[in-house]
Amino acid sequence: MNKKTIRDIDVSGKKVLVRCDFNVPLDKETGEIIDNRRIRAAIPTIKYLLDNNAKIILCSHLGRPKGEFNLKYSLRPVAEELSKLLNKEVKLAKDVIGEDAVNLSSNIKEGEIVLLENVRFHKEEEENNPEFAKKLASFADIYVNDAFGTAHRAHASTAGVADYLPAVSGFLIEKELEFLGSSLENPERPFVAILGGAKVSDKIGVIENLLDKVDTLLIGGGMAYTFYKAQGHNIGTSICEEDKLELANEILEKAKQKEVKLLLPIDNHISSEYSNEAEDRFVEEQEIPEGFMGLDIGPKTINLFCEIIKDAKTVLWNGPLGVTEFTKFEEGTKKIAKALAESKAVTIIGGGDSAAAIEKMGLADKMTHISTGGGASLEFLEGKILPGIACLNNK
Ligand code: AMP
Repeated sequence: MNKKTIRDIDVSGKKVLVRCDFNVPLDKETGEIIDNRRIRAAIPTIKYLLDNNAKIILCSHLGRPKGEFNLKYSLRPVAEELSKLLNKEVKLAKDVIGEDAVNLSSNIKEGEIVLLENVRFHKEEEENNPEFAKKLASFADIYVNDAFGTAHRAHASTAGVADYLPAVSGFLIEKELEFLGSSLENPERPFVAILGGAKVSDKIGVIENLLDKVDTLLIGGGMAYTFYKAQGHNIGTSICEEDKLELANEILEKAKQKEVKLLLPIDNHISSEYSNEAEDRFVEEQEIPEGFMGLDIGPKTINLFCEIIKDAKTVLWNGPLGVTEFTKFEEGTKKIAKALAESKAVTIIGGGDSAAAIEKMGLADKMTHISTGGGASLEFLEGKILPGIACLNNK
C-alpha cells in the first residue's frame, strides 16, 4: 500500500485542495484555541505547497455543527492562528461551496491561501454525497489529504473528492503511515506494546493485531481488571466488562500460543471510591479487596514495566495506565511516559490520552512519533484500511 505523496506530483501553478484536520479544541467561553497542535501539524505540507508555487485551498471540519451553518463552529480562529504561524494572509471563505468559496478559489493566485468554511456545515459532507464532493473537487486540480485524524471516516472531503481528482497524501499522513505502518511491520526487536485505557472492548482489535507483531504486551489501566476477573482474581469494585471475560481468556491463550509475553499489573494502587479524595492503598498482589477499586498500577508494576521498556528497541503505547483525571492516580502513566522519554528505542504514541499526557509533561520532543489521530490511529493499529488513505493514488 504505497501511496503517492505531494512529492510525486507536480503542484506548481496548480490549485490544490488540501483536507487538513483543524479540529482544534476551543475554549467554551472565549472561543479561543486551547491547543494549536493540529494546526502546527499541517504546516510542513502547506509550506511545501507555498515553496512550490501552488494555489492552496484548505478545508477542514471543526466540532459537530450537525450539517448546519453555525458561527460557533466557524474556522475563523483557525484562519487567524494559521496566518500567525505562517506569517502570511489566509483568506477565509464565508461558505464551503457557495458564492464566496467559488469566487475566492477561482481568483486565487500562486502562493496564496484560501481556507473554506467548516465542511460539516453541510450534512452532505458526512454522508459522502457525490454531488457535494464533485463541487468541492471542482475548485481544484489536485487533492491532498493530510487529515490523519479523520482518515477513518469516508466523508466527502476525506475520501469522496478523490473520485474526481488526482489524489495524494500530505506529509502528515505520510509520516503517520511510516510510523504506525511500516515501522511496526518490520520493527527492531524486542518490540513492546503498552496498552491502557478503560475498556478491553475498545482495544480488542488492536490487541489481536499486535499479538502477531509484538514480543511483549504490557496491559494496564481499567482493562487489566477484566483480565484479572477472567483469571479468577478478586477485583472488588474495579471497572470490568462482564461480557468480555471469555474474550480476555482467549486473548491470554492466544498470547501463549504466539509466544508473546503478556503481562498484567503485579500490584495496584486502589481506592475506596472513584475519587481523588477517598481512602487509598497499595496492594502488592493481583487481588483487590472488597469495597476497593484499582485506579492505577502500583510501584512494583511501574518498575517491571520500566525495566522492560529499557531493553526494548521499539515501543508502542496507547492508553493511560490509570485514572489520570485524578492526580493521585497518574503516577503509573507519568512514570511510563518518563521511561519512554529516556529510552533509546523507537517510541510511537498512538494518539488520544497518552499523547495528551506526554504533551502535558513536556516530553513530546523526546518521542519518535506521536500520532495526531485518536480513533484513526486505533483503527490503523487494528490493521484496518482507512478510507481517507485507501482513496489515494498508488505509486
Ligand atoms: P481510553 O480512551 O480507552 O484510552 O481510556 C482512557 C480512560 O481510561 C481515561 O479516562 C482513564 O480515566 C480511564 N482509566 C484508566 N485506568 C482506569 C482504571 N483503573 N479504572 C477506571 N478507568 C480507568
